Amino acid sequence: MRNLTESARLYEAARKVIAGGVSSDIRRSTTAAPPLYVDHARGSHLWDVDGNEYVDYVLGQGPLLFGHSHPRIVEAVNRQVARGQTYSAQHALEVEVADLVCDLVPCAELVRFNSVGSEAVHAALRLARAATGRGKVLKFEGHYHGWYDPVAFSVHPAPDEAGPADRPRPVPSTPGQPVGAADGLVIAPWNNLPALERILDEHAGEIAAVIMEPLLCNSGCIEPHPEFLRGVRERTRRDGIVLIFDEVITGFRLAPGGGQQWFGVVPDLAVFGKAMAGGFPLSCIAGSAEIMRPIAEGKVAHAGTFNSNPVVMAAAAAALGMISKEGDALYEPLRERGRRLAGGIAERARAAGVDVLTAGPGPIVQVYLTNRPAVDDYREYAAVDRARTLGLHAALLDQGINSVSRGLWFLSTAHDDTDIDRTLAAVERVFADPAWQAGP
Ligand code: PMP
Repeated sequence: MRNLTESARLYEAARKVIAGGVSSDIRRSTTAAPPLYVDHARGSHLWDVDGNEYVDYVLGQGPLLFGHSHPRIVEAVNRQVARGQTYSAQHALEVEVADLVCDLVPCAELVRFNSVGSEAVHAALRLARAATGRGKVLKFEGHYHGWYDPVAFSVHPAPDEAGPADRPRPVPSTPGQPVGAADGLVIAPWNNLPALERILDEHAGEIAAVIMEPLLCNSGCIEPHPEFLRGVRERTRRDGIVLIFDEVITGFRLAPGGGQQWFGVVPDLAVFGKAMAGGFPLSCIAGSAEIMRPIAEGKVAHAGTFNSNPVVMAAAAAALGMISKEGDALYEPLRERGRRLAGGIAERARAAGVDVLTAGPGPIVQVYLTNRPAVDDYREYAAVDRARTLGLHAALLDQGINSVSRGLWFLSTAHDDTDIDRTLAAVERVFADPAWQAGP
C-alpha cells in the first residue's frame, strides 16, 4: 500500500474550497484512496506529493504524446513566455502552426483555433448548422464530444434507459440541460450502417452534421468497421450532411494526420485538441476552404480571448514540428510498445486465469475485464465488468502504474521497454493477489 498522508491532507483541505475537492469530474477518486496529488512529472513518470513514483499512462488524458516536459517543448514555451504571454492579436507562430496542421491533416485547408476540445466541437456544430441551414445533429451512442449541453447526451447511458439498441433515444448525461436540448439531437448506434441509414431516412432534410470519434475512445476503444466508415462518408455526402470527425483524442496520436489518415476516410470538418500542443490547452476546427467560408467571411461567429495564445502556440509549433519532421517513424515505436503492453497483459491474464480482452491500435490501448471475445459497440461495452476494470486500475495505482480508470492506456514517445517491463511485472503481481481476485 502507498503512503498517501500528504495526499489525504491536501484532499481534505481541497474539499473545503473546491467543490468535491477536484477541478474536473473525471479526477474524482474512483477508489477509497484520495485522488492523485502530483508533485512533479518527467518523461513517462510522475511523482505524487508523498514521493510515490508512477509510470504514467494517463498523460493528462491523452495530450502528452511526447511525455511530460519534453525538452523541446519546454524550451519553446520558455522562449515565448519571456516575449509576452497573451496578445489577443495576430503573430507569426499561429501562422506556423496553421501551416503545420494544413500540411499534416487530410481535410484541413483552413483552421480556426480555440483552447479546449469542447469549445471547438461547439464551433464545428455551429458552422455545420449554418452551412446547411438545418438544425439537428446526429451523434452516436457512447461517443463523447465534450461537456457542453448540445452533445452531453448518451455518453454512458444505462442500457435500460436508452431505448432499443438499433434506435437509441437521447439520455442526458447531466441534469441542468436547457428545455428542448434533446430536440436538436438524434442518436444512432455506431458501427451499424443499416440502422444509421434508417434513422437518416426518418430525419431527411433535418440533419446538419453527423459527428463521431473516428476511433471510439470514450467507451472502450472500438475501431470502426471499414464498410461502416465508408458507408457513413458516402451517405453524408449524398445527403449534404457535414461529416465531422472529433479527433480530440485521435488527432496527432494515431498517425501524423490523425484518425482520418489512419482509417483512410476524409471528413468535411474535424476537431482537434489534446496532443496538438504537447500538454498545453489548444484546440482547432479544420476543414475545406468551402466549408470554412462562413467563418472566413465573418458570417458565422467564432471567438475566444485566449485563441492562438502565443505560449500555447509555441508548444504546438514544437510538438507539430517534431511530428512533421519524423512522420510515421515517430508512431511505429508507439504502436509497437502499445502492442507489447496489450499482448503482455493478455498473456499474464491467461496465465492467471483472469478474463481480459485487450484492444486498440497501440498509441492507445484498452484493457477490458470481460470474457467477451470482442467489444464492438456501446451496448457491448456497457456489458463489460466495469467495476472489475476499475478495480484493476486501483490495484495498479498501488503498484505505481497510473492508467485511465475505465481501462484506457495512452502511450508516449517517452515510454521505453523498461517502463513496459515494470508495468507487466506489476500486472502480474495484481493478478496473483488473492485480495484482488476476490473482487470489489
Ligand atoms: N472530444 C473527445 C473525443 C474527447 O475525448 C474530449 C475530452 N476527453 C473532448 C472532445 C472534450 O475536450 P476538452 O476536455 O478539452 O474540452
